[in-house]
Amino acid sequence: MSSNPLVDRFARRITYLRLSVTDRCDLRCAYCMPERMEFLPRAEVLTLEELHRVALAFIDRGVRKIRLTGGEPLVRRDMIELVRALGRQLGQGLDELTLTTNGTRLADFADDLAAAGVRRINVSLDTLDRTTFAKLAHRDMLPQVLEGIAAARAAGLQVKINTVALKGVNEAEIASLVAWAHGQGHDLTLIEVMPLGEVEGDRFDHYLPLDGVRRELEARWTLTPSAARSGGPARYVDVAETGGQLGFITPLTGNFCEGCNRVRVTATGQLFMCLGGEGRVDLRAALRSADPDGAVAEAFARAMGEKPEKHSFVIDRPGAAPALARHMSMTGG
Ligand code: SAM
Ligand code: SF4
Repeated sequence: MSSNPLVDRFARRITYLRLSVTDRCDLRCAYCMPERMEFLPRAEVLTLEELHRVALAFIDRGVRKIRLTGGEPLVRRDMIELVRALGRQLGQGLDELTLTTNGTRLADFADDLAAAGVRRINVSLDTLDRTTFAKLAHRDMLPQVLEGIAAARAAGLQVKINTVALKGVNEAEIASLVAWAHGQGHDLTLIEVMPLGEVEGDRFDHYLPLDGVRRELEARWTLTPSAARSGGPARYVDVAETGGQLGFITPLTGNFCEGCNRVRVTATGQLFMCLGGEGRVDLRAALRSADPDGAVAEAFARAMGEKPEKHSFVIDRPGAAPALARHMSMTGG
């Protein structure tokens, strides 16, 4: 256990880091980013060595779980080197190394991830219908994703499916997605769409509050609140009929900030204290300064002093500007 843990002003201990390794992606999910998304110049992105140093600095201050994310983490070429390097920290302060991926390249990396010590991954999948997928993600890549999920399972990785619930897109398919995932042995978590970054459409048009989805599923299945908690925002139920677990992440209909144990670092080394806020400190500048250790410690102290009590975003009317200019692909999910 760290002798100098990261604790914020609300006495929340930070034990979980989400580290984005790239802002780039091979899909263009309509709720996440526009087709003509402008990506960062490569020079602005942390090098592999810098990402590694950031992760080690957090482990030294008591972070026990790291989730690699993006953009799409598996489109970064040297990503697997980072996974291997961090895998060596497992059991040395780090309890879990995991990642969130869209799955398109998972078939190529599943064995390497498992060999590096990854045990569980999250795969984002919003539909099992190829036409809906191609329309939503603007790329016809559902077969690759399904192949990736199968490869992950074959490599012994535990896969959790994340699904953004979208009115008029996958709304009618949610029960069958849950049944499919549970049938394959994967838990599934539903997520409400969040107003982060400009996209082409209006998110309000597809915003689907999960309380209604839950009521519909309750009419079909027996849902029993589960004791399972990830220390994160999801609330879980056990589904008697499918034998699987179903999670609900409701940033809009149910604020979940009270027990927040996490921070996020973008691929450019910006440490965001809250997914729903603009507050950040610049770890890249700290790392590239004359006294990196001192500057990183100072940046951590500032971050802990500034982490907000809760986020405050809403989707309450059509045509409203996003609550934050930043896209989810900057900080990852
Ligand atoms: N590319 C990877 C993926 O899709 O899993 C990792 C990054 S992606 C930004 C992480 C998660 O955020 C995905 O599950 C995605 O569906 C979700 N996401 C993206 N934009 C979102 C938004 N505006 N509201 C809610 N979830 C969003
Ligand atoms: Fe890419 Fe993930 Fe955003 Fe989809 S949700 S565009 S896969 S970063």
